[in-house]
Amino acid sequence: MRTLDGTTSLVTGASRGIGRAIAKRLAADGSLVAVHYGTNESAAEETVAQITEAGGAAFAVGVPLGAADAADRLWAGLEAGLAERGVPGGIDVLVNNAAIGGATPTLASARQDDFDELFAINVKAPFFVVQRGVDLLRDGGRIVNVSSVASRIAIPDTLAYAMTKGAINTFSVTLAQELGARGITVNAVMPGTTATEANAAWFDAQPALHEAVTGLSALRRVGKPEDVADVVAFLASPAARWVTGQVIDASGGAHLGFSSARVRRRKRDCLIYGVRRAGGKLARRRRGPPAVSVGRPGNDKAHDGPSRSGGVRERSQREVLPGSRRVPG
Ligand code: NAD
Repeated sequence: MRTLDGTTSLVTGASRGIGRAIAKRLAADGSLVAVHYGTNESAAEETVAQITEAGGAAFAVGVPLGAADAADRLWAGLEAGLAERGVPGGIDVLVNNAAIGGATPTLASARQDDFDELFAINVKAPFFVVQRGVDLLRDGGRIVNVSSVASRIAIPDTLAYAMTKGAINTFSVTLAQELGARGITVNAVMPGTTATEANAAWFDAQPALHEAVTGLSALRRVGKPEDVADVVAFLASPAARWVTGQVIDASGGAHLGFSSARVRRRKRDCLIYGVRRAGGKLARRRRGPPAVSVGRPGNDKAHDGPSRSGGVRERSQREVLPGSRRVPG
């Protein structure tokens, strides 16, 4: 018996990317999955086809999120889809995955209409999808909201997007408290940078970023949609019955800290820098002649840091965290 046999799930934004992987995984676990999409019906039908070819059951429901009546239309579409299949109304698992944006708008570049759209789709839509559907969600059900690791680190290039995901975290924790009396669990999952159609062009255009993002993860690779789907599937499963109100990282340890090698390089640079300030003797003894000329002690120009002739400063610049570039997630 599969863990979700006899259940029904709704996954928003399941026409591609992480949402598609979640829909496929829940279907593989036995759930009948409503594959929600905004406008790309053929992509949603492709998700449905992949599920049915693998022996699962699914149907597509198309409603662009963001408009005031979107939640009503979404649940009406879901109930119609269930009725067509002779399945009783109601669902067991709701995954709020659909979202936009990854790198904009910033504090400097934000325009009010972009900001409003970001919050309408990423925050307002899941809020009202839950409000409208909460009576259709069976007792003992599951809500999983897809957040982002961007909500736990500070990347100015993703400021407004990160704020929407911070709101999703708060939504999840508070909703867990409200719905706990019905045995419904609510959790958020935070992916890190995950290779999907949404960022394929971004990676293709800047191959060095792939390596940079890999270096940001403790597990040293870019995420796959299935990495996130497996965590969502766990939270949807009976095994996660005692987990609620949690914001769970599914990023391979993105932005956890520095690698030991990087710390060793930093320490070495600090040592060289400090010794040079003291006259450079130890640096020369340990490492041979210094890479930069530091001049005579007492010469202020030579002693106000190793930046002038490039040696240490160049190395430091190469070690600037790639997170300072635009990194979605
Ligand atoms: P994606 O752009 O490939 O998929 C997003 C889905 O949401 C699509 O199916 C899209 O059609 C749907 N969607 C967007 N706007 C919609 C609207 N107005 N109405 C209806 N549907 C709409 O993105 P993805 O990379 O698969 O991301 C999925 C989730 O994971 C999002 O919540 C995203 O914020 C989060 N996330 C992604 C990454 C990453 O690196 N890919 C990192 C962290 C978090």
